[in-house]
Amino acid sequence: VSRVRLDNIGRLWSRGHAVDTAAVLVDGERVAWAGPAAQAPARQDGEEVVDCGGRLVTPGLVDAHTHPVYAGHRFAEIAARSAGATYSEVAAAGGGIVATVSATRAAAPAELRAAVRARFAAWLAAGTTTVEAKTGYALTRDGELAAVRLLRELVEPASPRVSATFLPLHAVPPGWAGSADSYVDEAVTWCADAAAAGADSVDAFCDAGYFTVEQSRRLLTAGAAAGLIPRVHADELERTGGSQLAAEIGAASADHLLRIEPADVEALAGAGVVATLCPGTALAMGARPPARALLDGGVTLALGSDHNPGTSGVTGMALVVALAVAVLDLSVDEALVAATVGGARALRVDAERGAVRAGMLADLVAWDAPHEGAFAWAWGLPAYAVWLGGRRVR
Ligand SMILES: [Zn+2]
Repeated sequence: VSRVRLDNIGRLWSRGHAVDTAAVLVDGERVAWAGPAAQAPARQDGEEVVDCGGRLVTPGLVDAHTHPVYAGHRFAEIAARSAGATYSEVAAAGGGIVATVSATRAAAPAELRAAVRARFAAWLAAGTTTVEAKTGYALTRDGELAAVRLLRELVEPASPRVSATFLPLHAVPPGWAGSADSYVDEAVTWCADAAAAGADSVDAFCDAGYFTVEQSRRLLTAGAAAGLIPRVHADELERTGGSQLAAEIGAASADHLLRIEPADVEALAGAGVVATLCPGTALAMGARPPARALLDGGVTLALGSDHNPGTSGVTGMALVVALAVAVLDLSVDEALVAATVGGARALRVDAERGAVRAGMLADLVAWDAPHEGAFAWAWGLPAYAVWLGGRRVR
């Protein structure tokens, strides 16, 4: 069946506007019509009708910041940190990002692929139809390129749509301590191959203890020259200038932004850089990005789970939306806009994702509630049905 009618939608939410008692017509992989049920085009022969049972329907959610290409886990370290172990104690005991780099490098390709595939299945089942996914736990040329290829292989109906981000500047890898500049020189030469392997974007962890603005600029400008979209982990631990760099080079997004000041808001707004905020990470760090000032300044917000092996196993954007309301003081509408069209803009795919209207990809979710307010109440509102490009995948 190529034509599907989502009928008996209790409430249809898109881009901050809601219509009660609605219908959506899907033709092939795209939305053909959406609006009040009373105005819907007449039924056609052979059309499949899905009764949404009065539920809320929204665009599929977009997770705009994740680190899912890793092997192993760090649960013992997380338990130790919860009992007061410091980051340096954890690092001295062989924990931290270096532990994940070792486990990821040691993993058999099939094992790593299976782990990533299972994570993506969880994202999709929970109503996230687009996931930005970063490399960054191999930190060698071949390993980083293999991670890009792995992400590309997972683009299939059983996985969400994936935006693959090449992140060789995630940390200074083991063996390069004291020679970060030389490592950056190496990584710069991998950009063209990463683009050829299927990466969409390039990213750098521009922060205290990681990479400087100058090092990050070198990678991101080389990546842009190779056709990759730049994005920046910016001003999370300290205000070192990542947001200003994002504005200067025209990055698609600046992410985290826990330490930014008004001048940074102005720079991001002026350059049209999307602010990708990760409320779970903000909660864990005990610092909040100035979400209201960003919105007031005209900056588009996106949201990310920041899924990573050290601090977040979240694969449910419905929880991230609830956290955005609680931690960032956004309204439910603002949080959902950030989790749909905002995320699509951060990934530069908003021409066909992030809203429910004719011509857009039919990435849709029927939620187990009749109203979007349930997101801020359920702390992980379950998806009842998920469509990816018009195909029902849950
Ligand atoms: Zn990150």
